[in-house]
This record gives sequence, C-alpha cells and structure tokens, in this order.
Amino acid sequence: MADFDFDLFVIGGGSGGVRAARKAAETGIRVAIAEDDRFGGTCVIRGCVPKKLFVYAAQFAEAFEDCAGYGWSVDGAAFDWPTLRTNKDTEIGRLEAAYRAGLARVGVALFQDRAVLDGPHTIRLLNQDRQVSAERILIATGGRANRHRALNGHEHCLTSKEAFDLDRLPQSIVIEGGGYIAVEFAGIFNGLGVDTTILYRGREILQRFDMDLRRLLHAEYENKGIAIRCRDIFTRIDKQPDGRLTGTLASGDVIEADAVMLAVGRIPNTENLGLETVGVETGPTGAIIVDDYSQTNIDHIWAIGDVTDRMQLTPVAIHEAMCFVATLYHGRPTRPDYENVPTAVFSQPEIGTVGLSEDEALRRFANLDIYASAFRPMKNTLAHRSERMLVKLVVDADSDRVLGAHVLGPGAGEMAQLLGIAVKMGASKADFDATMAVHPTAAEELVTFAEPTRRIRGGETR
Ligand SMILES: Cc1cc2nc3c(=O)[nH]c(=O)nc-3n(C[C@H](O)[C@H](O)[C@H](O)COP(=O)(O)OP(=O)(O)OC[C@H]3O[C@@H](n4cnc5c(N)ncnc54)[C@H](O)[C@@H]3O)c2cc1C
Repeated sequence: MADFDFDLFVIGGGSGGVRAARKAAETGIRVAIAEDDRFGGTCVIRGCVPKKLFVYAAQFAEAFEDCAGYGWSVDGAAFDWPTLRTNKDTEIGRLEAAYRAGLARVGVALFQDRAVLDGPHTIRLLNQDRQVSAERILIATGGRANRHRALNGHEHCLTSKEAFDLDRLPQSIVIEGGGYIAVEFAGIFNGLGVDTTILYRGREILQRFDMDLRRLLHAEYENKGIAIRCRDIFTRIDKQPDGRLTGTLASGDVIEADAVMLAVGRIPNTENLGLETVGVETGPTGAIIVDDYSQTNIDHIWAIGDVTDRMQLTPVAIHEAMCFVATLYHGRPTRPDYENVPTAVFSQPEIGTVGLSEDEALRRFANLDIYASAFRPMKNTLAHRSERMLVKLVVDADSDRVLGAHVLGPGAGEMAQLLGIAVKMGASKADFDATMAVHPTAAEELVTFAEPTRRIRGGETR
C-alpha cells in the first residue's frame, strides 16, 4: 500500500470541514486540514454568527419603542456602529480560536494555506509551496456571494461579506435579492436606522417558503418602513461624484441610495481547485457532483457542504460531515437525510418552519386541511404595536399527518427546532391536539386549533 503523509486531507475549515476533520481524527487516523482564510468558515466569520449578533442589535430599536407602554423610559438611547462591529469581531475571534483549539486537541494538522489538488492523492499548499499526500481527500470549500459580474457597475456594490465590516453605516441602502440573506439584512439595516429597500425579481420575497408567511412578512416589513419592489431588477449601477449610487431598473425607474447590496445567490468555491487535474466532476453551477454518500466520481475524493450545493445550511454541512465519518471510519454507511429540515429566517419578525409549504403539499397530496391563525402577540398589546404573528399547520386530511408547521413571529426560530422533532417523528394533528398547551404563549396556538381554516379536496379549496 502506498505510504501517504495523511489518511485524510480536508480542504476548507468551515462548518463541514472542521467537523469532519475533528471527528475523523477522534477515530485515531492521521488528519490534516487546510484553510486559506479563517477557521470557522462562512458561518462563524461572515454568516450565521455575525448575522445573528447584528439581528440582536437591530431588535433594540423596537424594544426601546415598546418599553414605554410597560412604564419604562429610556432617554437618549443611541446606537454606535463601530462598537457593534468591534464587539462582533472580538466574538468571532474567540470562536475561531476555539475551532483551532478543538482541531489541535485531537491531533489534526492545521495548515493556514490555500490547498489545491495536484494529483490523484496529492495536495499543493500554495503559500508554502509544499506538496503533501493523503489516502483520502475531503473537499469542503463552501461557497461565496455571487458578485453578479454581468451587472454594469457591480463593482460599486456590497455583498453580505463586506456588509459585516462597513466603516460606517449608510443612510440608505437597496438590497437586491429576495432570499433569506437579503430579507435578514433588510431587517438589520432597517433596525439600525438605515432607509432600506428590497428589490426582487420574483413575485414575492422568500421563494419556497409558505406563501402566507411570505405575504405577512412583506406587509410587516412595509409597516416598518422597508420598501419592497418585486418583479424588477437592476440593469446598471452608476456612482455619482458625491459617492452616492444610482441604480437603473429594468422597469425604467431609477433609485438612488448610499449603498447597494447584492444578495443574489451563492457560488460554489470550485474554481482553480485542481478538480480538472484529477477529473472530479462538477455540475452546471460549478458545484461538485456527489452521490448519496457525498462521494465524488473519484473513489477516494469526497465533498460535503455548500460546495456540493445540496442544502446551504450549517447544520446540513455538519450532518454531511458526520455521515461521511460514519461511512468511512465507523463502518456504518450513512446517507445524509434531507427530509423535514427545520429552518429559520432571522427577519423581524422571524420565521421558523419545517416540512412542506401549502403549495408544496398541494403538489403531492390530494386532500389537505389547513389550520392558520394570525393574531397580535400579547407583548405587542401594551406596546401598542400592530405587528401580527402567524401560526400555520398543513395537514394531510387522509392520514391526519402534519406535513408542515410554519410560524412567523417572536421566537419562531426556537419553535421550529422543537416542531422539527414532532414533524420528523410523523406527528399527527391528533398528537398536536393531545398535547397540553403552555399558557400564556403564542406557541399554544399550535395545539389549540379546532376547525380547519380551509379544507382542500382534490386540489379544490372549500
Ligand atoms: C450571510 C449568511 C448568513 C447565513 N446564515 C445562516 C443561518 O442563519 N443558518 C444556517 O444554517 N446557515 C446560514 N448560512 C449558511 C452557512 O453559513 C453555510 O451553509 C455553511 O457555512 C456551509 O459550510 P461549509 O463547510 O460547506 O462551507 P464554509 O463555511 O463556507 O467553509 C468553507 C471554507 O473553505 C475555505 N476554502 C475555500 N477554498 C479553499 C482552498 N482552496 N483551500 C483552503 N481553504 C479553502 C473557505 O475560506 C471557507 O473558510 C449563512 C450564510 C451566509 C452567507
């Protein structure tokens, strides 16, 4: 058998790569990992973690408004962007150090370097100009924001990456995109006092989420002063002598703003990775093609996480890493499971959801019972805030199984985690009904629905 430097070489130190390297090393094999930027990857450095910290920061604006109804007064409340940015940097620095320490503790060799495939079993570390060999290679290089290079003037725009580290907050911003990153950043910027517009080519923001949630979030965002323009796109962006940006739209309208952010999807990091050198196949978007077990067309090369463009979420990348380690190093072939993945959108109000939207359920099931309730959460009463909450269950009328559970409102992300267990276990509407309510909560609506709001039979709504 050939003598390799390592049993496993992981390229990319993000959510998936770090977990795979650490868990594989715990089995006693020789593991190395290369990261060309910062350990922790997208999620820790420029994704989930800093985003959630910014969401918390943005939520204080409404908390200060709401507190008056509860007898509090907060005079002279002021926001300082550099303080938030610096504190965020300190926290992600702490997390990055914890990631490195966790890898080192189990004996993983860390390379702070860009790694590319150089031959079937060889990896070149570009900065060190060094070659190492490995029996198996795991590619976990993630993705990056699409900079929309076809757009004239794209170079004047931000993506989510730069938005975390702005020198100063703009007074106004237009965010192009309707996915969760666009919607979350719109909530953040608006909460921090920036005049915010969403520009989206589709008919409604948050494609693939349940339409009732999408419509209500749209309405609540407009109530907060976020402008939303659907069915339109930028055709060019021009920078004015004073630094402001002018965006021309396909409709012919023109929008001016201090900043434009592009949140128009993500691109897998597969360029210049040496994939062609060893013949690893990629699909039309550049994502690495893998089988059900995350194996590429080359037997000893595997790929997990965003670089495979299956489901771009941190827990999914981590799950794929765990399945990879179980398959190869615990002798338990394990396929990642993508059924009923709960997820959240940290909009304000936030979304928590698991299972099928009503539209998806309609495509797969003939008879549905829909239970939905929109109401003002109790906290908003004394605050005199009109913002509503939505709780919705999509139920297969034939089996009584809950196919989808959807919440828009405070705590929805936390609820989705627990709803995820129930839906994953195949809970029926009767199981929900048999569960005692927790009172007074908003979540109790989920277990107190009496009659369906709508009965859909054979695709027809009654
Ligand atoms: C703004 C934003 C918010 C998000 N919010 C959420 C959220 O709330 N919840 C959620 O679940 N997901 C969220 N995500 C998605 C989540 O961050 C990703 O799904 C997750 O990070 C994917 O992990 P990964 O390991 O596949 O890739 P990544 O975390 O992207 O890690 C890949 C790593 O590989 C490195 N790399 C690339 N090429 C090389 C090379 N040749 N050599 C060495 N290193 C290399 C990169 O520098 C990077 O560190 C968010 C993403 C963004 C952009």
